[in-house]
Amino acid sequence: MTSALRLSENGFKVELFEAAPQPGGRTRSFIDKKSGEWCDNGPHLLNGAYLATERLLDDCQASGHVTWQSSLKLTLWEKQRQYFSLNPSGKLPFPLALLLAVKSMPGHSWRSALAMLRLNRAMNSNTCAGHSVATLLKHCEIPAELVRDMIEPICLGAMNESIRTADASTFARVLSESFASKKTARLGWFNAPLQQALIGPLVTTASRMGVTIHTSHPVHSLQGEGNGVIMDGEAFDAAVIALPVYASNRLLGENTAYETRAITNVHLWYDNHPGLPEPFIGGIGTLGQWFFDVSAQMGQLKSDVRHLCAVISAVEENNIDSHQLADQISHELAKLCGIDQEPTHSRIVCEKRATVLVRSGYPKAVIRNIVDASESPVPGELPATIEFAVQRGEKAARSIKKLFT
Ligand SMILES: Cc1cc2nc3c(=O)[nH]c(=O)nc-3n(C[C@H](O)[C@H](O)[C@H](O)COP(=O)(O)OP(=O)(O)OC[C@H]3O[C@@H](n4cnc5c(N)ncnc54)[C@H](O)[C@@H]3O)c2cc1C
Repeated sequence: MTSALRLSENGFKVELFEAAPQPGGRTRSFIDKKSGEWCDNGPHLLNGAYLATERLLDDCQASGHVTWQSSLKLTLWEKQRQYFSLNPSGKLPFPLALLLAVKSMPGHSWRSALAMLRLNRAMNSNTCAGHSVATLLKHCEIPAELVRDMIEPICLGAMNESIRTADASTFARVLSESFASKKTARLGWFNAPLQQALIGPLVTTASRMGVTIHTSHPVHSLQGEGNGVIMDGEAFDAAVIALPVYASNRLLGENTAYETRAITNVHLWYDNHPGLPEPFIGGIGTLGQWFFDVSAQMGQLKSDVRHLCAVISAVEENNIDSHQLADQISHELAKLCGIDQEPTHSRIVCEKRATVLVRSGYPKAVIRNIVDASESPVPGELPATIEFAVQRGEKAARSIKKLFT
């Protein structure tokens, strides 16, 4: 969608082919039949370093669909310490405020703040290349409490991978871009379902700019031919592929092994429930890693129905039965919300290939007039996120532009 928009802005005539009946891909919404509500496959968080995404939303008159924190507040919950937050003061220079905020979390001291400084120094040197986050943390002697309360939750949330195997140079990039300033460190969430907040505005803008969108139209074949490309027997000047990697593999006749991880989203609906004390909360020592008050995020607090969702990232094997999973999450939410109430219903959305993991050696196919913009992050690039998707789309549009100027 980004590529289509950026190309049509530059005067290209663009046709977009989408296999599904609706555009949206991994940022999609559906109607939950029991509540009659729009429900996203899973909650999506943004941060202030998502500059390309902000620009795109702005260009589609959709920037108001993201609610931004005024400054970073990361609220966590653990059985012993209950609620506590990482909440750097807005009055001090951001790096100092962050160190003091880390030091002040229960169970932390100057030991954690000094460890942050060591980590920062290592990230700015060449220490990360070829290593996992766990190796980097060991090298910097990062104490276990900092790993448990900050590093592991951020790594799971941003990279959908455990610190044991996540790539250190990409993680360093995430930390340095996200924690560059008070503005970049803040978090944001869509205040309407993805269909209305993101996909609808993109489709409307693209259509207004003359992009023809063909839905329920899977592309089966694509080859370079002469000065152009042939797609399912039809001739075009050029093509951008922006598919899940398994579909790109098929289309390009490749068999690259891409490593992916699942994300499980446990949606629960309650009647007359007080909800969470914050729009989202990180769980320490809980099965749910992030808990979202979807109704609060969407500003739907007048209704009697409360929609909460727990996210479990980096799922390698899902051998827990869905009833047990919903029960366990509902039990954890009872503790987080201080009220033991049965949900009216639940729904589990497991995205099996939610993201492609950062790995070296993914080919960056350049076939004349075919630009592959599919998600295949290599070390040092951003992990698989909305921002990475938007940046890939912009880069692909620039490559196509270059071909014709
Ligand atoms: C549950 C979940 C939670 C996430 N949370 C976050 C988050 O909090 N923050 C964040 O930034 N990112 C998050 N992500 C990651 C983010 O959603 C993805 O990285 C991003 O949406 C990828 O976009 P894409 O356009 O590259 O791919 P996709 O969204 O997968 O789009 C590819 C499209 O290609 C279509 N297609 C497939 N085959 C064909 C074919 N043969 N012909 C035509 N079309 C085809 C598909 O139908 C699809 O619409 C999350 C992802 C998931 C699944």
